Amino acid sequence: MTTVGDPVHAQPRFLLGSWPTPLEAAPRLSAAVGLAPEDLWIKRDDLGGLGGGGNKVRKLEWTLGRALADGADTLVTTGASQSNHARLTAAAAARAGLSAVLVFPGEPGRSRSGNLALDGLFGARVVWAGDVGLPGLVRTAEQVADRLRSRGARPALIPFGGSSSTGALGYLTGGRELLAQAPGLHTVVLAVGSGGTMAGLVAALGSDRVLGVDCGALPDPVPVIAEMARPLADAPVAAADLRIRRDQIGEGYGALTESVAQALALAGRTEGIALDPVYTGRALAGLAAAVAEGGILPGRRIVLLHSGGLPGFFGHPAAVDRAEAGLEGERWN
Ligand SMILES: *Cc1c(COP(=O)(O)O)cnc(C)c1O
Repeated sequence: MTTVGDPVHAQPRFLLGSWPTPLEAAPRLSAAVGLAPEDLWIKRDDLGGLGGGGNKVRKLEWTLGRALADGADTLVTTGASQSNHARLTAAAAARAGLSAVLVFPGEPGRSRSGNLALDGLFGARVVWAGDVGLPGLVRTAEQVADRLRSRGARPALIPFGGSSSTGALGYLTGGRELLAQAPGLHTVVLAVGSGGTMAGLVAALGSDRVLGVDCGALPDPVPVIAEMARPLADAPVAAADLRIRRDQIGEGYGALTESVAQALALAGRTEGIALDPVYTGRALAGLAAAVAEGGILPGRRIVLLHSGGLPGFFGHPAAVDRAEAGLEGERWN
């Protein structure tokens, strides 16, 4: 539903995806986690069309729309070297006829394949920032933008993970899209990184119906999400009302945990669906833990947001090794 004063009317949007994405039943996975077969559905935002798909496509429609309205010719963004957001920023820039500069921590050669290979395919330029934390990375991106400006370019900084109130508009509309497909929605479970996806969903659906599973990208995503959701929501958003599980972080962002390895195998073997080790695998592991604890009960419409990340799976050697170790094989003769 759109209302007078709806924030989506005030902002320029550049279409990048194919909407609506499918909402698919997952009866075998549902039963495997302890729900009734008809309870669990998967929102296929991994099928968003552009550049390998994923949740960043929805956010980029708004951040890129803003950048184009401001006359930008180059997108500058940051993330981990296997960032799905950076890969989709590169793809979105190509689609809109802009250049992309991706600012990554570390040195060239440490991470390979996966998203980095696609970044190259989409024609992005990479700046390696060395061993810096998130604040240092953001500062480097600002310096890169300054240098581009001094050379006559018109850079637009796309925030870390594409997350801002502007980016979160993608999941204000995405949440409304989901509600039209699943009017009886009880809970949508999603992976939380930079927080914009959850912020938009909370604005669309209210805090009660959104369960985030923190992946450890930020020290504390709760105040960040509340801040981004506030300007978009009709009702007040209190940080204390946000539902976020923090039990799936393990050794930290990017580290493969045992429960995530099991979640990847479970989704693969029950539904033929590939989740990723950093985000969507944690979302399913958190969902399964919530069912086991009785926090999610059978008989309700539960949706797992498939937010993409398959390229990140191929860029994660531990997850690939684990999956290959599960191959049943025999030599003939
Ligand atoms: C970035 C990402 C998320 C988290 O989304 P945020 O809006 O950054 O919280 C979830 N899943 C995948 C696959 C992602 O790439």
